[in-house]
Amino acid sequence: MGKRGKEIIGLKVDELVEMFNKALADEWLAYYQYWIGAKLLRGPMREEVLAELEEHAADELRHAGMLVDRILQLKGTPILKPEDWYKVTNCGYKTPEDPSTGAIVEQNIKGERCAIDVYNSMLEITKEKDPISYTMVLEILRDEVEHEDDLERLLEDIEGRA
Ligand code: FE
Ligand code: FE
Ligand code: MG
Repeated sequence: MGKRGKEIIGLKVDELVEMFNKALADEWLAYYQYWIGAKLLRGPMREEVLAELEEHAADELRHAGMLVDRILQLKGTPILKPEDWYKVTNCGYKTPEDPSTGAIVEQNIKGERCAIDVYNSMLEITKEKDPISYTMVLEILRDEVEHEDDLERLLEDIEGRA
């Protein structure tokens, strides 16, 4: 990022990069959790859940890309080794040992709730300090809120039919 672009940020750039790298780890783990969950899926409403999981996986991967682009703009280094995802993640990874639609959706709801908390706190941190990062975080948060809502609705339908 250019000199002035950096000067307008009222936060420590190293700390911002660290925060975005933690979110990057979350996004990759969320991506894989959705992606592998979609492959394993069994049970009621399989087709509907599958479509939603695949859509969300694509969204998480896009979020990862947004975070990396911003990290690079800040002249930071994005996480280079997958083994570091587990070291820095906020939200972790829920192993989909039970492939039933209800269990998979519940696990992903937990992940979305964590993501909402994380991005909401990132919004507070960047507010009035770094409008570019703030706008990016807001865009991601909007998606995570939609993800949670989509999954809650699916879970209601699954439970209604079970
Ligand atoms: Fe995401
Ligand atoms: Fe999400
Ligand atoms: Mg959706």
